[in-house]
Amino acid sequence: GEGDIHAEVVVLGSGPGGYTAAFRAADLGKKTVLIEKYAQLGGVCLNVGCIPSKALLHVAKVITEAEEMSSHGISFGKPKIDLDELRKFKDDVIGQLTGGLGGLAKGRKVTTVQGYGKFTGPNMIEVETDDGTKTVSFDQCIIAAGSEPVQLPFIPHDDERVIDSTGALELKDIPKKMLILGGGIIGLEMACVYDALGSKITVVELMDQIIPGADKDIVKPLHNRIKGRYENIFLKTKVTDVEAQKKGLKVTFEDDKGETFTDTFDKVLVAVGRKPNGKLIDAEKAGVAVDERGFIAVDNQQRTGVSHIFAIGDVVGQPMLAHKAVHEGKVAAEVCAGEKRFFDAHLIPSVAYTDPEVAWCGLTETEAKAKGIKYEKGVFPWAASGRSLSNGRSEGITKLLFDPEDDRVIGACIVGTNAGDLISEVALAIEMGADAVDLGHTIHPHPTLSETVNFAAEMFEGTITDLM
Ligand code: FAD
Repeated sequence: GEGDIHAEVVVLGSGPGGYTAAFRAADLGKKTVLIEKYAQLGGVCLNVGCIPSKALLHVAKVITEAEEMSSHGISFGKPKIDLDELRKFKDDVIGQLTGGLGGLAKGRKVTTVQGYGKFTGPNMIEVETDDGTKTVSFDQCIIAAGSEPVQLPFIPHDDERVIDSTGALELKDIPKKMLILGGGIIGLEMACVYDALGSKITVVELMDQIIPGADKDIVKPLHNRIKGRYENIFLKTKVTDVEAQKKGLKVTFEDDKGETFTDTFDKVLVAVGRKPNGKLIDAEKAGVAVDERGFIAVDNQQRTGVSHIFAIGDVVGQPMLAHKAVHEGKVAAEVCAGEKRFFDAHLIPSVAYTDPEVAWCGLTETEAKAKGIKYEKGVFPWAASGRSLSNGRSEGITKLLFDPEDDRVIGACIVGTNAGDLISEVALAIEMGADAVDLGHTIHPHPTLSETVNFAAEMFEGTITDLM
């Protein structure tokens, strides 16, 4: 039957996946409704993810660069940190973006409904709004419910000194001594922020390297740099207990030899991954299958097992990244509008916006070795980059992987300042089937960090002349 509101396309969740899908569906002429629990649109990414973390990382970078200027003959005083002002800067950035989204939704006549939505049937969602329950009936639906931080059972998450990424971004105070539980992208970005603000940082990671996913040789320059700044980095180590004491959180660690040791922290940031919200929307009432972890399986048109219901973003699987959600959102909306569109991207780049940044796309060396895929590589160390040295930094590396059959580029792993921006050139090269000569013969502006991509291709070709 008809709900209080009828939508040709309803989108559940307004993160980067959801708002993109809603806007695209509306642009293609669909009467679109966007359901969001919070008053502000934008989801995790804009409110408690990508954007606020980057605002704080920008500040962190300025602080550490100012510190390091002393070795170039320029000294600044110790930074005076006004947390209220810093928080305001971050919140203003969020406000500008989420406010912009509100305007864009109105301009497209997308109806937004604020409240928590759950399926009551294959063509109906019930929304708990501030003024009672509203029903939204729909012809087609795009689920974009996102994800939330994973909690660990043996950790007192109700203690306010135990925080997740959302808590870390709130910036309540600057702890003297902080444990980052999990050496992945989110944990290390927050470590970078709090280190710059003055916290003593310990990182603990279960795997044998930080940023698991990126190649070890590429992660090493980051590891070496933070090793010099942080109190401890424990690899192959797990946390087995966190005890809330008056003087702090007493943490028990266990290394890979089974040895245990303890230390006490003012704050513990738990950054051990995110879990999809698929189980929280009564998807089964619409006939949509959700696996035991909370993921919703989709085909290459983002369609669930129910042909008029689609799913996109963090709720459909890894990698949980905003640009993946956006791309999937466009595919889903265009399929809803009757277009023959598929998710056929060759790669999804990943970036850790740490200092230095770590970025990779396509095939990694670790993955190639594990899968027995043949490859050759071109590696350019930034110690030979004029621009990097002029920036006072020499630790970067640009590594490109090539298919030995036809010299086409098939992957890249880059570490260094702005690696996240550099990876896009390789992503385009892979999407377009470019080979080493294409990258090597394209004139790159000098002196830029982008030249390192050109040089890595020339290293592979054996035509490089610039290496000192
Ligand atoms: P989400 O952004 O999770 O949004 C889902 C939305 O749906 C939420 O607003 C939620 O309130 C709403 N919702 C859910 N269920 C319902 C319901 N039943 N009814 C109503 N509303 C509902 N990714 C990057 O690519 N780059 C980065 O730099 C980056 N940094 C990050 C930093 C941090 C600290 C974190 C936590 C994440 C970061 N990410 C980053 C990941 C990125 O935020 C996510 O991949 C992205 O937000 C996923 O988008 P989404 O559309 O799937 O859902």
